[in-house]
Amino acid sequence: MLQRFFAAIRAHYGITVFFLYLGAFGIAFVGTFTLPLIAIGMVLFSIFLLVPAVLVGDLVGSLARRTTRPYLRRGVCPKCRQQQGPAWEPPVYRCAFCGAAYESDGDPHEGADPAPREPDVTPVPNDGR
Ligand SMILES: [Zn+2]
Repeated sequence: MLQRFFAAIRAHYGITVFFLYLGAFGIAFVGTFTLPLIAIGMVLFSIFLLVPAVLVGDLVGSLARRTTRPYLRRGVCPKCRQQQGPAWEPPVYRCAFCGAAYESDGDPHEGADPAPREPDVTPVPNDGR
C-alpha cells in the first residue's frame, strides 16, 4: 500500500513540479501587468522554492526505495505482488510475470530489456510475386 503510494508519487513528481511552475508562470505573467509587486515576489519565491522542491524529490525517492526493498527481500514483485521463482536475484530483480525490473537498492531499473527475443528468422527473399 505505502510502497505503491510512494512509487506513484515518485513516477509523476517531476512532471507535477513542472506544471506547478508553469501555472505560477501564468499567474506571474498576468501579475506583471496588473500588480507588478506580485510578479516580482513570485520570481524571488520561485528561485528559493527550487531547493525544497529538489529536497522533497530526494525524500520521495528515498521513501520509495525504502518501501520497495522489503518486497525484493521477500521475493515478491513490488508492482504486481507475484511471488517470484529462483531467478529472482541481484543485480537486477526482474519480475517473471509483469516484467518490472528493480535495482538491489529498490530503484526501478532503467536499463535495456534483456527479455527473450524471438529467434532469428531467416529472411525470405521477395522475388516480386
Ligand atoms: Zn511483477
